[in-house]
Amino acid sequence: MQILSEARLCLAMILTVFCCVPAGCNDYAWEMFKENSLSPTPYMKAANHPKPREWPNDRLTVTWIGHATVLINFYGTVILTDPVLGERLGPPEFFGVNAGIRRITELPCTFADMPKVDVVLLSHAHHDHWDSPTLRLFDGKTQAIIPTGNCDLVSEGRFGKVTELGWGQKESVGGVEIRAFRVSHWGQRYEAADRPRGFNGYVISGRGRTVVFIGDTAFGDISPDPRATATQPRWLLTPADWSARIGVAKADLCILPVGEYIYRANHMTPEEAWAIFRTAKGRYCLATHWRTFILSPRDRLPTFEPMERLKKIAGAHPDNIICDEPGMVFTLSE
Ligand SMILES: [Zn+2]
Ligand SMILES: [Zn+2]
Repeated sequence: MQILSEARLCLAMILTVFCCVPAGCNDYAWEMFKENSLSPTPYMKAANHPKPREWPNDRLTVTWIGHATVLINFYGTVILTDPVLGERLGPPEFFGVNAGIRRITELPCTFADMPKVDVVLLSHAHHDHWDSPTLRLFDGKTQAIIPTGNCDLVSEGRFGKVTELGWGQKESVGGVEIRAFRVSHWGQRYEAADRPRGFNGYVISGRGRTVVFIGDTAFGDISPDPRATATQPRWLLTPADWSARIGVAKADLCILPVGEYIYRANHMTPEEAWAIFRTAKGRYCLATHWRTFILSPRDRLPTFEPMERLKKIAGAHPDNIICDEPGMVFTLSE
């Protein structure tokens, strides 16, 4: 049975490459096939196993599940960002087997280990942020907040309510306000072949506390065509622009992506993430989008480089960086 399942996975991987190359994703598909299948990074066991069902409901507690997935207990309202809990990112899927990019760090806690999630926050429809098999785990009692133009990707039966937010729009859930803001990224799931789709960052606020969550962004502004500007970002944004976009006086926690910056037109460096953290007058920084899935060739972006660079730029303030390993838990002091 094991041999049969590995043979199906191998066949699915070969079909992935043969289908992706003529489709025009040749360089990226081949690089990722090499990184994930020919000489894969060793699988890392999770060193931390949080027990979020036991967290107090009168505090703000978070854990980094991996990539852009963060579990937040916001004074009793449970929020899960960009949930991706599977072993591989989809698509493609052949013969019922997902041959996408594989996870390199074990999930520190499973869906069954989590309390009832009140709100799922989805930043955009890229497969490393919007994972359909994970979204199918929900049972109709959770609200999903998504960017405009993405309703067709949500299976309605899995969420009690789906709310689309455009930039500047808000939704209140259980005393927590969630506001969408503009980031520098793009929303199409299948690039040129797809319809235009929204892409958001979010400010979560309530009880005098503020959390900023960004799934993916560049620091600069970008062209609508991500491929055209992959090596030529337009640097039109300043920290003051970011301050206006995020629109908070002071953030208790900033959840920011720090990886994939070799594709700098759509992603930011750790130093740029730190600049946004400073601009938002952040107290704590939780860095995401690294150490979970290999989305950049390791000879150009080693697995641990993002956190090393972030700690270097943090200099005398490394205590501001929290949850630098999956599954670490942080509770904000009152
Ligand atoms: Zn993205
Ligand atoms: Zn991403």
